Amino acid sequence: MAAEPVIIDKETHTFRQYEDGDHITTNFEKQIFVEDTSYKCPVYIQRTPPCQGSCPSGHEIRGWLQIVRGIEKPGDDLERDAYAFYRNTVANPYPSIMGRVCPAPCQDGCNRNEVDDYVGINSVEQYIGDSALEAGLKFENLPDLGEKKVAIIGGGPGGMGAAYHLRRRGYGSTVFDMQPDLGGMMRYGIPSYRVPRDKLNGENQRIVDMGGIEVKLNTKIGVDISVEQLEKDYDAIIWAIGCQKGRGLPAANADAPNVITAVEYLDAFNKGKLQTLGGKVVCVGGGDTSIDVVTVSRRLGMVEDLAADQRPEKVTSGELQAQDEALGAQRKNVGVTLTAVFPRDEMMATEQEVLEALHEGVEIQNEVMPVEVIKNDAGMAIGLKMAKCTVDDRGIPSPIEGTGFEIEADLIVSAIGQITDLEGIDGYANERGLMDADPLFRHPDHEGHFVVGDIIRPHLLTTAIGQASKAAEGIDQYLQGVEISKRPKVDVHQFSLAAKLEETNLTPSGYEGGDAFATDTTDIAVHNFRDRSKYEIINANELFLGHFKRSEVSKRERTGPDEAHVLGDAHPLMKGLEEEQAVEEADRCMSCGMCFECDNCVIFCPQDAVSRVKKDISTTGRYVATDYTRCIGCHICSDVCPTGYIDMAMGQ
Ligand SMILES: Cc1cc2nc3c(=O)[nH]c(=O)nc-3n(C[C@H](O)[C@H](O)[C@H](O)COP(=O)(O)OP(=O)(O)OC[C@H]3O[C@@H](n4cnc5c(N)ncnc54)[C@H](O)[C@@H]3O)c2cc1C
Ligand code: SF4
Ligand code: SF4
Repeated sequence: MAAEPVIIDKETHTFRQYEDGDHITTNFEKQIFVEDTSYKCPVYIQRTPPCQGSCPSGHEIRGWLQIVRGIEKPGDDLERDAYAFYRNTVANPYPSIMGRVCPAPCQDGCNRNEVDDYVGINSVEQYIGDSALEAGLKFENLPDLGEKKVAIIGGGPGGMGAAYHLRRRGYGSTVFDMQPDLGGMMRYGIPSYRVPRDKLNGENQRIVDMGGIEVKLNTKIGVDISVEQLEKDYDAIIWAIGCQKGRGLPAANADAPNVITAVEYLDAFNKGKLQTLGGKVVCVGGGDTSIDVVTVSRRLGMVEDLAADQRPEKVTSGELQAQDEALGAQRKNVGVTLTAVFPRDEMMATEQEVLEALHEGVEIQNEVMPVEVIKNDAGMAIGLKMAKCTVDDRGIPSPIEGTGFEIEADLIVSAIGQITDLEGIDGYANERGLMDADPLFRHPDHEGHFVVGDIIRPHLLTTAIGQASKAAEGIDQYLQGVEISKRPKVDVHQFSLAAKLEETNLTPSGYEGGDAFATDTTDIAVHNFRDRSKYEIINANELFLGHFKRSEVSKRERTGPDEAHVLGDAHPLMKGLEEEQAVEEADRCMSCGMCFECDNCVIFCPQDAVSRVKKDISTTGRYVATDYTRCIGCHICSDVCPTGYIDMAMGQ
């Protein structure tokens, strides 16, 4: 029978056995040890923690946190941080970038939220990434390259993720990108104060250094090279082209030249073509991209009476190659307004980003929508007619009658979403201008074509990379001429007991991975082990939360400028954790669904049926052994196991 869920009040739970004033004690020995037996013995069950289940890259988070905190140890040839890096990058080769700008859905899913606050997974990831770059770590022990080769269209996170995951499987590739450098939106969308370029360059280069990955930049597929040519030259094709255009402003008169999109604005800024602005900026948005627009604008500032031929829209339209560099010296603060249809607490941007924008002097107006662009006689936008609005269930705003007002603007930036650039390749798109992909990331109409990332549906960096990993697995099977396997229910990178035993030279004879059951004739199992990680995510209710002392999450120092110092600022926004802080943060992980060697079961077993495995044969997941001839099924070990690793399930 399923256990009743335990409702935990985070503010008051203390897990005390008695209320104040209680004086009659219960005979626990009688109640639990003798009368309350499960008639079943323990089975040790690996499950997926919810952090991993919530990470679109399917990171094996629990594993690399246990390494950083020192519980799971490397072999003799690796340092702790290098071991954590190699485990971390099984899923995603960009820890330094993810650690900075991934909005960390893993942390929303973390079970530790039920005790005090999430584990700062994202900050430990940044620590792993930065320390690996500092140490100059490379991807090593790669399989030999086979003869088959894949064409990857797009060198953003999806395309580079695919090149990386294919190389790990022994396939070479050519990455084609129409931009002058690799990185996609990591370089031409997100500004350098959020994604420092030395980190991006380092992580890109490390992938290229794997060998067998050719890069062809300034090459637009569909224009410079046809898809038919790629089909002739390569054994498979991956589409990772993202959405390279911004959605225009849905308001009357939005055709003025100084009404531009966020994508073109940020592209020009990130290429160093913009030095300054000519006056007040209004950005319509509310998500990550709009925050980048307004914070970039505050950094760019304005020059009074900016010459018409130096205006920013001349650059974004391509009429002017770049603004005059000398303008940078003349700029002063510019007024920047962000408008959003949602209330402040429902904006798509994270709370942290919103607070930072406010700190930098951005004005935010919520629950308002643009109605019409106000133009002057020359056809230039000089403001926006706005109205207060309501938003329906589909997210579509409607103006509230009689609430109209105007905002002055010298530049209006639409940051309400992206669309695709399908020049020469529109035959591969669906009716929404995106590309279809089946659950195995195959293009449904073109054999040998696979699709990943924003071109399926704009989302996150980590999503594009997670899809690239799955597509690479499918391509591997496709190129071997076998049927591509269905994806598992819980589709993330998992800890593999078999791989761990192999790594530590401890594989018992006859063990090929998966479940392992103790018998009197084999040494395969030290206890009965089941791997349920592909089917089950472990809930906080299944943990013994009383084991964990409350502690505060270590927040990274945000070094962003205030409104008085934002002009021209280019410093990275976030300072990473120091080593000691990273270890401390990793130490807050409750290791949901996997033994973390706390000894509770050994200490509390009244039958001495559970013992520590001898050091020279002990490893992750095999730290304790159970003598089933002594076990009476009292379930104390299961009750006191903080990680939910033990079920009274033998025979089930
Ligand atoms: C301004 C902005 C800020 C963002 N901030 C965040 C954030 O903080 N955190 C987060 O997780 N996500 C963020 N995102 C979303 C994230 O950047 C995307 O989800 C991610 O980059 C998608 O990866 P991708 O590889 O599919 O596409 P992209 O990153 O767009 O890469 C596609 C690449 O394909 C190339 N390409 C396109 N067409 C062709 C062609 N025909 N031939 C050759 N090359 C081609 C492009 O030049 C580009 O380099 C942001 C997006 C934007 C626009
Ligand atoms: S990539 Fe994002 S969701 Fe995944 S572990 Fe890192 S921060 Fe969490
Ligand atoms: S406590 Fe650790 S294993 Fe559990 S969900 Fe949080 S980060 Fe993951």
